[in-house]
Amino acid sequence: MTITSTKIWLSSPHIGEGEQRYVKEAFDTNWVAPLGPNVNGFEASIESYLDNDVHVAALSSGTAAIHLGLMLLGVSNGDEVICQSFTFSASANPICYLGAKPIFVDSEKDTWNISPFLLKKAIEDRIARGKKPKAIIAVHLYGMPYKVNEVKAVGEQYGIPVLEDSAEALGSTYAGVKCGSFGDIGVLSFNGNKIITTSGGGALVAKNKKYKDKAVYLATQARDNAPHYQHSEVGYNYRMSNVLAGIGRGQMEVLDDRVAARRSNFKYYKQELGHISEIEFLEEMPEMYCNRWLTCILTPSVQFRERIRLALQEVDIESRPLWKPMHLQPAFENCDYYVDGTSEDLFDRGLCLPSGSNLQMGDLDRVIEVIKIAMTK
Ligand SMILES: *Cc1c(COP(=O)(O)O)cnc(C)c1O
Repeated sequence: MTITSTKIWLSSPHIGEGEQRYVKEAFDTNWVAPLGPNVNGFEASIESYLDNDVHVAALSSGTAAIHLGLMLLGVSNGDEVICQSFTFSASANPICYLGAKPIFVDSEKDTWNISPFLLKKAIEDRIARGKKPKAIIAVHLYGMPYKVNEVKAVGEQYGIPVLEDSAEALGSTYAGVKCGSFGDIGVLSFNGNKIITTSGGGALVAKNKKYKDKAVYLATQARDNAPHYQHSEVGYNYRMSNVLAGIGRGQMEVLDDRVAARRSNFKYYKQELGHISEIEFLEEMPEMYCNRWLTCILTPSVQFRERIRLALQEVDIESRPLWKPMHLQPAFENCDYYVDGTSEDLFDRGLCLPSGSNLQMGDLDRVIEVIKIAMTK
């Protein structure tokens, strides 16, 4: 008997019914440009979804949104910016685009996100050394909300704005309020592996309409209001295409379903693997609702983690170690950091399991079976 099974991906795009209609409309009306009705419609639907009096600018990527967001918060050459160390490199790279210096802060165990305690310690130490950080980048990693109130309180105590990296957390909430809408600036990503996708894209979320307008101005080459092309500032080409925004409008219609599917993946993994004493899951704290973008497990050691990862790989199932902390990355080896070992330990022991909203029950069963066998070896 030959068993034919297809590759199981970590997190693959999951397209609904409406996307092609919006994209076709863009073609039919010749709005094949980095502006048009889909861009406006997509922004409006994100604004109404986030439902917290925010203004949204659709951009070419989440990274572009972080870059412009830091500019709006006044970050420039020579400044210091505090960044959660346990994250994807895109959270930190834009700090360097601006000639500023990342200062990395470790995570706490409850949420795996920035530790309010170490954040405060880092800020006080930077101030004692003569420079107050210009901004704080906090990340809702894997969709799990960071301790929003504590981080906000520390920021307010020292007068430092928070940039909320919600690239992985669309659909998550904290105290009933949607992630992405808490920060002075919020950031969303619609890359192909995120909870919803435009193939590639992102958005900047602002409480203040002036921030949105400035972001759109900077994202469209910073054109002044004149009949010719007049520029008082250096601009960027960061606006989202009207074609891709059409995909985004369709994806917004199925966002709730996608969150439900990913949460149900988590629930099933936990039901089937939760009794194994060597496997731990990250639980939600009170007031937190996680979109479960990726289901992550913690194993007893890096050797255990590798045993599972390689056993999955052997049968064409993609899994991935948790993010390697930024303070351990060669690209950032000259940056200062405030850590207590938490994120390094998570990186060593943690593994992301296939978590796409388009996975079938049989796919999950295959993953679970391989893990159970690997655990007994
Ligand atoms: C994906 C991601 C980004 C960057 O988004 P892109 O749209 O891929 O540029 C930023 N931060 C985090 C935490 C991410 O996961």
